[in-house]
Formats: sequence, C-alpha cells, structure tokens
Amino acid sequence: APVIGVLALQGDVREHLAALRDQGAEAVAVRRPEELVAVDGLVVPGGESTTIVKLAHRFGLLEPLRAAVRDGLPAYGSCAGMILLADRLLDAPPDQETIGGLDVTVRRNAFGRQADSFESEIDFGGRGGGPLHAVFIRAPWVEEAGEGVDVLGRVVGGEADGRIVAVRQGNLVATSFHPELTGDRRVHALFVDIVRRRLAEQAGAEAGNERG
Ligand code: GLN
Repeated sequence: APVIGVLALQGDVREHLAALRDQGAEAVAVRRPEELVAVDGLVVPGGESTTIVKLAHRFGLLEPLRAAVRDGLPAYGSCAGMILLADRLLDAPPDQETIGGLDVTVRRNAFGRQADSFESEIDFGGRGGGPLHAVFIRAPWVEEAGEGVDVLGRVVGGEADGRIVAVRQGNLVATSFHPELTGDRRVHALFVDIVRRRLAEQAGAEAGNERG
C-alpha cells in the first residue's frame, strides 16, 4: 500500500488518517524531516495556516516540505492546507510564508465573517457521482488559477456562486472544504490514486534503468 503522511503539527490530523486508511493507504503522522522522506504522498490538513507555518519552521520542516513538493511529491491540502500549497496569498499577514507549488492566488477567510462555517453542495465536475456536500470552516477560496491548474470544484448558488474551491495541478490537489469530515471519499480517492500512479511510474522508470 502507498504510505501517505499527514502533516501533524496542528489541525485535524486524525480525520485525514482515517479517510486515507478507508482508501487503502497506509497513513502515518509526519512531524519530522526523517518522517517526511519516508512517505509517498502528504496531506496538509486544515487548522490555522499561520500556526502550521510557524511550527514547520520550528521543527525544521519548511524547507524540506518545499523541496519535497518541488521534487514532485504528491500533496493534498485542505483549507489551511490549500493556503500552504498556494504560491500567492491575499488577506494574509504580509510575512506569511507558504510551501507553495500550486500556481494559484488564494484568499484567506474568503467567505467572510458572516459565514464562519457552513455547508453547501458544490459542483465537483468531472469526478463523477454528482454534487459534493462540502463543509467550509473559515475557508479560503482560489481567487485566480494559473493556466496549468485544473478547476475541480466550484460553489453553486449564493453570494460565492462560481468561486473555485477545488483544484489540481499535476501531483498537487487542494480544497477549500474539509472532505475528511464527511463520508464522501472522492477527494481522498483521487489523491490516493495520484500517489499510486506516481509510485507505478517510479517503479517503471527503475525497471527501465535496470534493463538499460
Ligand atoms: N482560516 C484558516 C487559516 O487561515 C483556515 C481554516 C481551516 O483550515 N479550517 O489558516
């Protein structure tokens, strides 16, 4: 089984570990650089992005995280995790750093104070199975996505109609919402699939090297 880590500095780690196990992955908590190098994929959970970045600094993890994503490690960020995978932020402290990798501009706490937390059906286009019931908690959205970014999900109806809340770029996935808190496993299934494909590609490349 693919080994998938959940960055366990702060946030809803346990729920992601359970959702990943549901999908047949071996799920482990990651707090140290030695643990990061041992995983085939990484989930960056929701929580408070400023706190997670501070702790990543303190644990000597921020640079290793950046390097891992640069080298193609599949990563999935939910809510604060979306903020952490974004290349550019809006409504964030000017010195707020990210891991980066996703060519998107993400607005923090985008849904406004009046909507601290809410649930809504979103259009999860192309993934099959119809609309997805999404839980948003002081959630960001993707204000702008670069050309290489696939939009996977948008809000339907209300003031935020059409806003981008799920994206994929290569091995990186991000959602504004928290699929680990609902029974809908499509996002985790997609991510585990990305990790499996990369492992298969790497195994193929190694076999090719041995033959050549
Ligand atoms: N508002 C939080 C942040 O900026 C994200 C909230 C969440 O992850 N549920 O980090």
